[in-house]
Amino acid sequence: MAQKIRVTVWNENIHEREHEHIRKIYPEGMHGAIASFLKKQPDLEVRTATQEQPEHGLTEKVLAETDVLTWWGHAGHDGVADAVVNRVHARVLDGMGLIVLHSGHFAKIFRKLMGTNCGLQWREAGEKERLWVVDSSHPIAAGLGPYFELPHTEMYGEQFDIPKPDELVFISWFEGGNVFRSGCCWSRGRGKIFYFRPGHETYPIYHDQTVLQVITNAVRWAKFNGNTQTCGINTCPCADQPLEPIKK
Ligand code: ZN
Repeated sequence: MAQKIRVTVWNENIHEREHEHIRKIYPEGMHGAIASFLKKQPDLEVRTATQEQPEHGLTEKVLAETDVLTWWGHAGHDGVADAVVNRVHARVLDGMGLIVLHSGHFAKIFRKLMGTNCGLQWREAGEKERLWVVDSSHPIAAGLGPYFELPHTEMYGEQFDIPKPDELVFISWFEGGNVFRSGCCWSRGRGKIFYFRPGHETYPIYHDQTVLQVITNAVRWAKFNGNTQTCGINTCPCADQPLEPIKK
């Protein structure tokens, strides 16, 4: 059997520890809900890490053993150490996949990788969201119909201050009239990045089987393709030996 994809599910794990009503939805934390679904997949090897752990659970060793990292943050963005952000950033450039979920749009690591502010509009009114698949050929949309719905969500609306996605997989429509690019792909260096919108902590979004399937698809999509031979991606080697003779 091919080598398993090593996934680290990261969560700040703050809301779940501080609020009883959120703990009721996610007794094992949002990371626990996501990880338990991923662990059922025979091709994945899954661990979790949380912000309160030393080095936020993202040591050099853990990151070296991670093919794809998923990231959920909200209340604790400012508390994430810059040294850890820089370490994750370097790993992404070197090929680690990164799946940024929901309020992770404001995470230091996401903003650093995007180079923009990553702001958006939001509203907490428990409204319906319909996520339209706008690229059914995309591996992240595997197994989905033309759309799927979440009955009660926090709204995120455009304009989402991100660089233009390399690939767009989902656009959300909300009951209150807003729309949002809710499934966006980029590459940075050798690494692939997917931003996926669903996931507000007061709704059972990470118990929804379609949402979990999308995250699983994204993990498989974001896995490094193994190409370490691309000359010049990490350094600037001098190409003083041309491949063909250059006529003077
Ligand atoms: Zn939220």
